Amino acid sequence: MIWVVCYCLAMKNTLAIDIGGTNFSIAIFEGASLFGKLTHSTDRKAGPTGILNQIEKMLRVLWRDGAIHGCGIGFGGPVDFAAQKVVASTHVDGWEGFDLVREVETRFCTPVVIDRDSMVGVLGEGYFGAGRGIRPLFYITLSTGIGGGLLTASGLYRGADSFACELGHHTVVPDGPACLCGSNGCLERMCSGLWLERDYGRPAQELFMEPEFVSRYVIHLAQGIKSCLMFLNPARIVIGGGISQAADLLFIPLRKELDRQMTSWWRASVEVVPAALVGESVLRGALALATEHIYHQNPASLDCVSDAVAPPLLQG
Ligand SMILES: [Zn+2]
Repeated sequence: MIWVVCYCLAMKNTLAIDIGGTNFSIAIFEGASLFGKLTHSTDRKAGPTGILNQIEKMLRVLWRDGAIHGCGIGFGGPVDFAAQKVVASTHVDGWEGFDLVREVETRFCTPVVIDRDSMVGVLGEGYFGAGRGIRPLFYITLSTGIGGGLLTASGLYRGADSFACELGHHTVVPDGPACLCGSNGCLERMCSGLWLERDYGRPAQELFMEPEFVSRYVIHLAQGIKSCLMFLNPARIVIGGGISQAADLLFIPLRKELDRQMTSWWRASVEVVPAALVGESVLRGALALATEHIYHQNPASLDCVSDAVAPPLLQG
């Protein structure tokens, strides 16, 4: 039976799209194998049509022959999953009211399913990456913005209106600076790549070379993670997105700060690890999303033909 399922999925060509505030990427999967991927910087003023035109060009470069059987999209902003609509983007103009699913279906003649990028990211890491087999799993994207996703043994937890796990707009500094969501001192306002660059005039990669900066930065990040731990008690938290690539420069001080904030009263797990699918968490999650909602198969069945990397060794 397993062989039959894998054979069927291996015949599917899936387009995966990851639309972020700084970059967007597309990938083609043949079954669970990555055929190829391309990334392009996001022109924040070009709007959805500009991005879609670019995606169409990229797809022509990447994929010349054969049908696309389905498309999964991870979008960097709130998505109404039940309605399959983008709600808004705080980083890129023009998305409100834009029917992205219909546009992609029409342009590429394939069924499409969409979810928020951090929801899609937890699928990628949960089925193919650092959270494989670990449930409940919490995933944090630490990038232009900040978002979260929760994968339980029975699937994604989206909440009543698809807004569950919007960790980025959880307030960590009540009298902090104004955030794009209209609130103040949100985790995203204090810790995201967009605001680090605006506040310090330098990219995050440079800032993480300075231990003094990092020791201040991890205080707010740990506050956000502490909330996840307290509310959800996940078995593991995986952190992906561009900032997570600071690796030990981030994770060693972060774990130290979390140990300080959680206190010995907390007897539950505090396991925070970097994403294993560097730059591909959302793309592989988009494959899992399409597998579940378009091909109606369990994404775990892709594991038998997956070329995804193994989870990293855990550090204490
Ligand atoms: Zn906010």
